[in-house]
Amino acid sequence: MRRMTISSFDHAAATRHWVRDALALLEQEATRSADTHLLRLDFPGFPDIAFYFKDESTHPTGSLKHRLARSLYLYALCNGRLHAGQTVVDASSGSTAISEAWFARLLGLPFIAVMPACTAPQKIQAVQALGGQCDLVEDASQVHAHAAQHAANGACHLDQFGLAERATDWRGNNNIAESILGQLRREPQPEPTWVVCGAGTGGTSATIGRYLRYRRLETRLCVAEPTGSGFVHGWRHRDRGAVASQPTLIEGIGRPRVEPGFIFDVVDAVAEVDDAASIAAALQLEDLLGTRYGGSSGTNFVACLQLASQMRARGERGSLVTLLCDRGKRYQQTLFDADWRSAHGLVIAPWQQAIAAALRAGTLTPP
Ligand SMILES: *Cc1c(COP(=O)(O)O)cnc(C)c1O
Repeated sequence: MRRMTISSFDHAAATRHWVRDALALLEQEATRSADTHLLRLDFPGFPDIAFYFKDESTHPTGSLKHRLARSLYLYALCNGRLHAGQTVVDASSGSTAISEAWFARLLGLPFIAVMPACTAPQKIQAVQALGGQCDLVEDASQVHAHAAQHAANGACHLDQFGLAERATDWRGNNNIAESILGQLRREPQPEPTWVVCGAGTGGTSATIGRYLRYRRLETRLCVAEPTGSGFVHGWRHRDRGAVASQPTLIEGIGRPRVEPGFIFDVVDAVAEVDDAASIAAALQLEDLLGTRYGGSSGTNFVACLQLASQMRARGERGSLVTLLCDRGKRYQQTLFDADWRSAHGLVIAPWQQAIAAALRAGTLTPP
């Protein structure tokens, strides 16, 4: 009996050492990494409104999911759920999988991404290039069940959808909200009128919404979502059983259902954006910034133009902050391919004109 107690203690000590070393690797990675830029743009149509863009595409893994992946690994490690040699699994539409695969490689762990088979090929290749394995599922609604199956076989389920909202330290630790507000501190209006972001796991909106309250700011939070998404219907009626009334082609946001990390009460407004408008806006961002960003960055930009149009109509001054969520390169063969767009019935030219006109005249009029 005594011997058994001692041997299990030795095992616990070895596990604890591995966790300590893994945490040190994550801390080293964070120390090597720089913060992401907050870019400012001014438009002739909105002389009294400053636009800021937090460029999350510059993380080493190319999206805001770098922050989430780091938090999910920290959370699993500090909860004692992740051990040496254990396979790591998660369900992901791509961006999270790329970041999680990158951290798995850093920690020397095998990684499986459970993805819908229709995920952009560039994302699948990126996971594989990092040594991850992709379990492609034809029926997108089955990804959670597949991930749970891997977990039942002994893998550590990082569970981005279940844990995004609690794995991130919303009070500080250079979370995205603290970083943005720190970068605004020398601006003419360090307290923005609105922050605009989308909702995939809901982690980003939960962190920003909580942090704005915690810091006692007047800033309001707008969630920008594809028209008819689960978040849109859920937020409107505070209905956790709501489902999307139409699908979206914008990856990373526009979930078909209300995810556990959607915290409705910290969101002040929801903007609905058509997919064609999001793509047109992403292309407009490329003209403005010289870099191509993904579809959800376009969704955010359209919502900013909607809010700015309202502010201008009321004669309000102020500033808007939004996110550039990921690199556009990932969607070369989908959103940014004209043939792919026509095959999906997307017509973006009228939206491109409407957005360009809004930047000149200060009112976004849907075509
Ligand atoms: C995940 C994701 C979002 C939404 O962020 P959440 O914190 O998960 O709500 C937006 N855009 C892209 C490209 C994403 O991958």
